[in-house]
Amino acid sequence: MIGEYEVVVLGGGPAGVAAAATAAGHGRSTLLVERYGFLGGMGTAAGVTNFCGLFANVHGDIRSVVRGVADELLARIDRLGGLNAPHVVFGKTKAQAYDTAAYKCAADDLLLERGAAILFHALGAGVLMASDDTISALLVETKSGRGAVLGRIFVDCSGDGDLAAWAGAPFEVGDRDGNMLYPTMMFRVNGVDPGAAGEAWTTIPKLMAEAERKGARFARKGAIVRPQRNPQEWRVNVTQLKAANGRALDGTDADDLSRGEIEGRRQARSYFDFLKRDVPGFADAYIVDIPPQIGIRETRRITGRYQLTGDDVISCADFSDTIGVNGWPIENHVAGDVQWLWPEIPASRGFNHLPYRMLLPLEVRNLLVAGRCASMTHEGQSAARVSGACFVMGQAAGSAAHLALSADRAAADIAISDLQQLLEKDGAYLGRQP
Ligand SMILES: Cc1cc2nc3c(=O)[nH]c(=O)nc-3n(C[C@H](O)[C@H](O)[C@H](O)COP(=O)(O)OP(=O)(O)OC[C@H]3O[C@@H](n4cnc5c(N)ncnc54)[C@H](O)[C@@H]3O)c2cc1C
Repeated sequence: MIGEYEVVVLGGGPAGVAAAATAAGHGRSTLLVERYGFLGGMGTAAGVTNFCGLFANVHGDIRSVVRGVADELLARIDRLGGLNAPHVVFGKTKAQAYDTAAYKCAADDLLLERGAAILFHALGAGVLMASDDTISALLVETKSGRGAVLGRIFVDCSGDGDLAAWAGAPFEVGDRDGNMLYPTMMFRVNGVDPGAAGEAWTTIPKLMAEAERKGARFARKGAIVRPQRNPQEWRVNVTQLKAANGRALDGTDADDLSRGEIEGRRQARSYFDFLKRDVPGFADAYIVDIPPQIGIRETRRITGRYQLTGDDVISCADFSDTIGVNGWPIENHVAGDVQWLWPEIPASRGFNHLPYRMLLPLEVRNLLVAGRCASMTHEGQSAARVSGACFVMGQAAGSAAHLALSADRAAADIAISDLQQLLEKDGAYLGRQP
């Protein structure tokens, strides 16, 4: 037995960091279990290096809509010198780039100062059930052997719904035909001449089309090539990774993942050759980082008490059990392209509520699920999987775990008004006031 905690969080991405920081901040003995030696999830391990979903276009005005624990994490990243100023995306919203080293350090500090324990280099590998609907322990594989972490409430922030699946909670994969969002191997280049590169992201689509006419081949359109805080360093989000059958590779399949890592690095080198050859400002650039893993956008999504849908995103839905908001549009990574679908701008409010029920799996009492594997349809997840909504879900899950323990109730049975009051007291924005 490795230990016994009130709250056990699996996975240290944005959802897990927010969940563990919040539960520990409310005095709950909390352990976060993470397979890597650092926090940040896809944000660091897959080199995403950019926060989306922190802003929404509210009737034409781009506003910050994700508050609470995200504010503290971003302030810490900023103090470490690793946060870029927000940049405008398609003239409609804003995103904010960051450095992975600063994110890792800031997340360590946040969790430790709030009193959470962290077990790094521990791969969650199964559960022990006390009964059909109650988890008693998370099983982990570590360098010091196999172990069990006992807990009263578990929060699955693995991104892949690992814990929920092991515990027997129902889940879905992909759209109606099983198609998932395509993964991407991110990479970053340094040595860019910012003056010569200018706003290269506006000219790159045309340059790619010209290169294709001369015989170049790209895995996808919709390249995202943007500067980091150091204007000589740019992130590149353009590769696309398919399985042998042409569909998105499966981020829960070891063979697919293995092939994807190699193909991702091959595509990164090939796209870098294009940047160096054809894009002004990149002639002296070099690849400074290909991250530890390919970026997985979607695998399992639990089918919980409510599934957030694409319609909810586009119609800016209200929910009485709101725990915060999502202001990111549907960003659908289909074969060879990225399709964007926005709520009406400026007619709409620009964000939807995220209901507490999307964190509540069916059939397991002492489990909450937050982040990209929470209860959403494929289309809903195409929007609310980004960091902003994951911070919201994580903070709500950590708060709900605290309230459930206080009331000695299942997470599904806490009073929503208590949860909302606590979230607002802790600085979260629930989207109820203008
Ligand atoms: C290529 C790409 C580009 C993206 N671009 C953006 C962007 O620009 N802005 C943005 O906001 N979002 C972006 N996203 C989406 C966003 O990064 C993710 O959806 C978000 O990180 C999901 O957060 P999460 O906490 O749910 O899960 P994750 O970030 O996936 O974190 C899950 C964590 O759990 C750990 N874990 C998983 N399984 C286990 C296990 N069995 N045992 C132990 N640990 C485990 C993982 O190592 C990881 O640390 C992008 C995603 C990809 C893939």
